[in-house]
Parts: sequence; C-alpha cells; structure tokens
Amino acid sequence: MQTLILPTDTSEFAKDAVARAVTLLGTGDVVALPTETVYGLAADALNPEAVAKVFATKERPLFDPLIVHIRRADYLATVAAVPEEIEKEINRLTQEFWPGPLTLILPKQPCVPDIVTAGLPTVAVRVSAHPIFSRILRGLERPIAAPSANRFGRISPTSASAVMEELNGRIPLIVDGGACSCGLESTILRVEPAPDGKAKPLFHILRPGPITPEQLKEFGKIVKAKPRTNPKGTEAELEAHASPAPEAPGMLASHYAPATPLRLLERPEDFRPDPTKRYALLSYRGDAKDGFLNLHDWHEVVILSPGAGKLPEAAVRFFYVLRQLDRSGVDEIIAEPVTEVGLGVAIMDRLRRASARA
Ligand code: AMP
Ligand code: MG
Repeated sequence: MQTLILPTDTSEFAKDAVARAVTLLGTGDVVALPTETVYGLAADALNPEAVAKVFATKERPLFDPLIVHIRRADYLATVAAVPEEIEKEINRLTQEFWPGPLTLILPKQPCVPDIVTAGLPTVAVRVSAHPIFSRILRGLERPIAAPSANRFGRISPTSASAVMEELNGRIPLIVDGGACSCGLESTILRVEPAPDGKAKPLFHILRPGPITPEQLKEFGKIVKAKPRTNPKGTEAELEAHASPAPEAPGMLASHYAPATPLRLLERPEDFRPDPTKRYALLSYRGDAKDGFLNLHDWHEVVILSPGAGKLPEAAVRFFYVLRQLDRSGVDEIIAEPVTEVGLGVAIMDRLRRASARA
C-alpha cells in the first residue's frame, strides 16, 4: 500500500486533507492524524472492524485499550456514563482542561465496542485541541479511537515524517499537521468519589503527561499508585488471577523504547563504561555542572532543552531526540535525569519505561 502524506499549511490543502481523512475513516479505514500530544492512528470508534485494523497496523496486543476522542465535552454522554457521585468533579475538569491533553477514564456506554476498551467496563475519553483533528471529528460525526501512531512499544511519533518511519506502507494516509505542541502522550486520570462524600475526590494518575500533578491537585486528592505486589502461588494459579488488562497499559514496564538500549543514569558516579562500546548522552540541559557532559568521550551528545533546562521544551523535543539518537549507531544511550516536577514527572516516566527491558 502506498502511504500518502497530505499537508495542511494552506486553507485549500487543509480542506482537502480533512475531506480525504473523513472519507477514509467513514469507510472503515485507518489514517494517521496530528494531535497536540503525539500523532494518532485513527479509526471510527464505533466500527469494530476499523478498530481491529488499528491493532493489526500497530501490532498492538488486544489487551491494550484505545483512547476515544470526542468533539466537545457535551458529547461525553454518547460514549461514557458519568457516575452521579463524580459528575460535578468531571464537569470541573472538562471545563478546565478540555480541549487539551487530559484523558478521563469513565464507565463506558454499550455502543463502544469491546475491542476499543480491551473488554474493560471503562472507556478512556479525551477532546483534542488540535484544529485539524477537531475538524475531522466534526466531519465524521462519530467518535474516533486513536492510540499513538507507532508500532507497539516503540517511540511515539511527534511529526508526520516520524509516522512515516513507523507505518510507511501500512496505512493509506498521514495528515501532516506540523510538529506536536506538547510532544508527550496525554495525562490519563481516573476519578474516584471521596470516601466520605464531602472531601475532594480521589485522583489516580494512570499515566503522567502534559497536565501536571500540580495542575490537577486543585481539583482532587492525588493518590499515589500502589506498587504491584507479586502474589504467591503456583504458575497456574497466578495465571488464573492475572488481570486481563493492566489498569493503564501505558503502565507496561517497557514502553516508548528506542531499538538502541537506553539507560537512565540517575547519578553520574554510577557510570562504568565498557571500553569496547560507543555511548551517546541524552543530556537534559547540556550543562557541565550537572556532571554528565565530561564523564566520558561521548560518541554523540544531544541536549533535550538547549534553552537551559526548560521542561516544556524538553517535552516537545523528547521523542524527536530519541529517534535521532536511535539512528546514531551507538551501542547504548545514556540518559540524564530531568527535574522531577511539573512536566518533568511525565518525562521521567517515559525515560524509566524506555530504559526498562522486557
Ligand atoms: P496510546 O495512545 O498508544 O498511549 O494508548 C492509549 C492508552 O490509553 C493505553 O496505553 C492505556 O494506558 C490507556 N487506556 C485506554 N483505555 C483505558 C481504560 N479503560 N482504562 C485505563 N487506561 C486506558
Ligand atoms: Mg502509545
């Protein structure tokens, strides 16, 4: 299959690209679309055959559910049933953060096919702020299921050319909406009513993202995720009790990974280079004072935030830079930690997952 990239940088181009995407989606095809987080691989969320193509194209396991995109908050009830006890809180959140990079986990409506939610009774819902994505949703008049437009477990694409690297020949169309303005996948949040009904609701951040814990804490009490315990038992017993789907499969330990091994080096003094290997440094701000720059004769150094350690800049460049390092032909990528506040929480989450080997 020939993969076409259509530009959107004049109003005529945009009109044509939107129309082609809507036609393809309406006939059960998949297309790659820009959002403000990363590029998504889109399908009509209410058409199970179309959604099956998303899984097949990405080689994504069927236990990993997709995010459903709707046009506006007032369409929420078409895909999700908001429980009365948290209705007020959900309204506050959608008013504050939609359109934008916040995904809410809510009980699903029966019209949402099981394949979308991997059999879960809940659905992940979001309203994208990207104007082209928004126009396509309006044209289609149906919700869109769209996970990131990369092959499963690999680096999320933040440009049309990165989607091409991932899915060339597998999809008919990539709509080029420019570089993604956030650069990291959406924050995924599950809201639980307060136990006593009066205090703030409980917020479970299932995946940290561009909407930060600092922004969310005004609206609810953030609950720390429980570490996973390994239950004791025979292998058969464990299998029988294994949850069929992780609560948020972004939680899979190894994810967002380049093909080249990546290691998050929390402290420079822990580096013991193998003299036969070539290493690249993924530096946070390129400042020698951080102790990493002069640690080794690096084969290549790439700086996440050349603007002296600005987290939004580091987030926007993150996946782009990982792709660049993956092409550099080194044996291992050594990553510096970033400041773990605000957006830094999401960046550190991606670095830890990229450094975990399955
Ligand atoms: P991606 O856009 O590729 O990051 O994939 C969408 C992500 O949404 C998945 O990895 C899940 O983490 C999350 N997700 C989708 N549906 C649910 C759900 N019902 N419950 C929890 N997480 C979900
Ligand atoms: Mg993904």
